[in-house]
Amino acid sequence: SDFLNISGLHARIDADGAPKEILRGVDLIIAPGEVHAIMGPNGSGKSTLSYVLAGREDYEVTSGSVSFKGQDLLAMEPEERAAAGVFLAFQAPIELPGVNNANFLRTAVNAVRRARGDAELDAVAFLKTVRAATKKLSMSDEMLKRNVNVGFSGGEKKRNEVLQMTMLQPSLAILDETDSGLDVDALRIVADGVNALRSPTFSALVITHHQRLLDYLNPDRVHVMARGRIVHSGGAELAKEIDVQGYASFLAEAA
Ligand code: ADP
Ligand code: MG
Ligand code: MG
Repeated sequence: SDFLNISGLHARIDADGAPKEILRGVDLIIAPGEVHAIMGPNGSGKSTLSYVLAGREDYEVTSGSVSFKGQDLLAMEPEERAAAGVFLAFQAPIELPGVNNANFLRTAVNAVRRARGDAELDAVAFLKTVRAATKKLSMSDEMLKRNVNVGFSGGEKKRNEVLQMTMLQPSLAILDETDSGLDVDALRIVADGVNALRSPTFSALVITHHQRLLDYLNPDRVHVMARGRIVHSGGAELAKEIDVQGYASFLAEAA
């Protein structure tokens, strides 16, 4: 498949003047319509993989390739990646005092539409689209009237992120559900959001070490990442195995 094909990906970061290799040969293929999860111990390179896919500057790809719908993803600017249908959830949702959430969302949606060559949504068309999205996600649209993420609870920030994802209609969503402060409700919001988007033209890569999230998500494939590589892959049952026995056996297998 050439929907998403990550092959032999090596990447490093400049750690206080010394290059440090973090990704050491990641191979991963995702087909259209599939939801994949990456689990793995802390420090294994999961977030680094999502940053490299996002095109963050501090990371240097030293070898390997990432093709997305037949295009060289690594050669594309972050905005071009978004226009091609890649959605990357914000790591730490920024608060924007004085910026209305609906306007912010409309600006983001229209930037992507412009880059795709689609007509921009005017205020009326946007409102119609956003109401359809909030309805689909069983969300109140009260959040749209507030300033971006200001005073939002953890759950509301997650809802807002899922709403952004839904509005941008990505063909590939990459979510890095970092360790920090995700309660069960927030995990449920993320899972419900991804599940609501499931279709033959939507794929997701969900990076997590929350077994609970994968219970809700029921991914097509689960991968274990350790020491900068994917060392083991399986179906949804793999997440349950890990929940019981931890990562030790996979680390031994990888060594
Ligand atoms: P994970 O998300 O799986 O916990 P990360 O991708 O965050 O792993 O980190 C992988 C490894 O890279 C860790 O050993 C981490 O310490 C190291 N690392 C990540 N970012 C930096 C950085 N900016 N400088 C130095 N080392 C880093
Ligand atoms: Mg970590
Ligand atoms: Mg991480």
